[in-house]
Amino acid sequence: MSTKYVFVTGGVASSLGKGIIASSLAKLLQARGYKVANQKLDPYINIDPGTLNPYEHGECYVTDDGAETDLDLGHYERFTGCPTSQANNITTGRIYQNVINKERRGDYLGKTVQIVPHITDEIKRNIKLLGNKGEYDVVITEIGGTVGDIESLPFIEAVRQLRWELGEKSVLIHLTLVPFLSASGELKTKPTQHSVKALLEIGVQPDVLVLRTEHELNSDLRRKVALFCNVAPKAVIQSIDVSTIYEVPIKMREEKLDEIVLEQLGLPLNSEPDLESWKKFLYKLKNYSKEVRIGLVGKYVELHDAYKSIVEAFIHAGAVNDCKVNIEWVHSEELNEQNAADCLKNLHGILVAPGFGHRGISGKLVAIRYARENNIPFLGICLGMQCAVIEFARHVLNLADANSSEMEQTPHPVIDLMDSQLNVTEKGGTMRLGAYKCELTEGSKAYEAYGQKEIQERHRHRYEFNSKYREDFEKAGMITTGINPESGLTEIVEIPAHKWFVGVQFHPEYKSTVIKPHPLFVSFIKACLS
Ligand code: GLN
Repeated sequence: MSTKYVFVTGGVASSLGKGIIASSLAKLLQARGYKVANQKLDPYINIDPGTLNPYEHGECYVTDDGAETDLDLGHYERFTGCPTSQANNITTGRIYQNVINKERRGDYLGKTVQIVPHITDEIKRNIKLLGNKGEYDVVITEIGGTVGDIESLPFIEAVRQLRWELGEKSVLIHLTLVPFLSASGELKTKPTQHSVKALLEIGVQPDVLVLRTEHELNSDLRRKVALFCNVAPKAVIQSIDVSTIYEVPIKMREEKLDEIVLEQLGLPLNSEPDLESWKKFLYKLKNYSKEVRIGLVGKYVELHDAYKSIVEAFIHAGAVNDCKVNIEWVHSEELNEQNAADCLKNLHGILVAPGFGHRGISGKLVAIRYARENNIPFLGICLGMQCAVIEFARHVLNLADANSSEMEQTPHPVIDLMDSQLNVTEKGGTMRLGAYKCELTEGSKAYEAYGQKEIQERHRHRYEFNSKYREDFEKAGMITTGINPESGLTEIVEIPAHKWFVGVQFHPEYKSTVIKPHPLFVSFIKACLS
């Protein structure tokens, strides 16, 4: 069967949840036996979000193949359990870079290189990359931004052309907002009509309208929207606010989004979608018997999206443990020796987050010392693990000036640059990125959690545990329990004498999904509960 395409655009306002709708549709089609891939097109000029400040764009999500991508890819993986890759996230920057490289190579010799057709052709080529693999029945492509933006125009134009070329083989879903005016008690459809008009002006007719709303939309309102927007009344569906994003697939099923899309693509409905395990997860999520408080120590805590995958991993791990995980956001810059006990004493566990640069480091060290000395379960991720190593060096090995060479030049760089990173000058895409193997020590907390000897986890960092110090650390009680079998680099450190103290150089949070909660998070929450 040749691949069919679904496009998801958004109008009226940003942040309406296109990524969640796209992920939910993927989940529903997958639950009917279809092979589905999600893709995100981002209309900014950065080649990837790797160089973006988390305050600007939230977390940077890393795939197995080492692509630094938009956080929506995290939703795709968490919902469907299917790994994504570089091909699943394309930015305007990458499109232009490819076209300009071709121009320099002489591929367009003699021609004026233009947005139409050269940029739009490159966009179309990238949309079709996943479909051409022949592995997917349906590719769902989400166009970032809001219809009417200057930036997203070339993407919408490419979609217009592609839909023309694909004929019956594509469906376009447009997501808008129906605001509620509390003064008059009315739901308003005009912004949706205008948004569809903006799409029509550039030649694109949506097939399905998903209306984000705080209140139920009645059939009169749906019929009215259908009439004004040339859409079948049953293809006007609501996406009502829910308490958790994981309920959206169930809501979309109730609204028959999957059936409408399959019908329009000319695909059989197959069996009813099998959502048993999803519903079981939802039930556990809502019917918990215990609660824990976990301190999340980081420097971007004002914007929770900066730690999206960590937050979601806690939701998954909480549900399997019949427990609600309450996150207490602790700003690392506000934490010091004096207020540590006050800020941290009510926590059942402490997680020190990933990050870059020296800002907030001293607060992270304070939190780690508190967790270590008070036997509070601790999980350190990437920079969080590196800080655990620095803290241990300073206060247990008595190397007062121990540090990471990312922070300062020091006689004791317990965290240091790898040789391969020494001459790197460019910032974009130059870290140790993507999946690497790790071998676990039997009997360790990590081994107990994973229940297997060899694992693979995703990385995004430049600095490493300095192996010169490994023996000193082990003698003093912090041991390496996970090692990269190819390079010998330390991937995990633990303090066996502590209740649960684990630092990981990789990012376990990227691989936690609804159906497969991450073993380290599950085990960490279990330790916090006991
Ligand atoms: N800044 C550290 C490094 O580059 C840690 C990175 C991270 O936490 N992702 O090694």
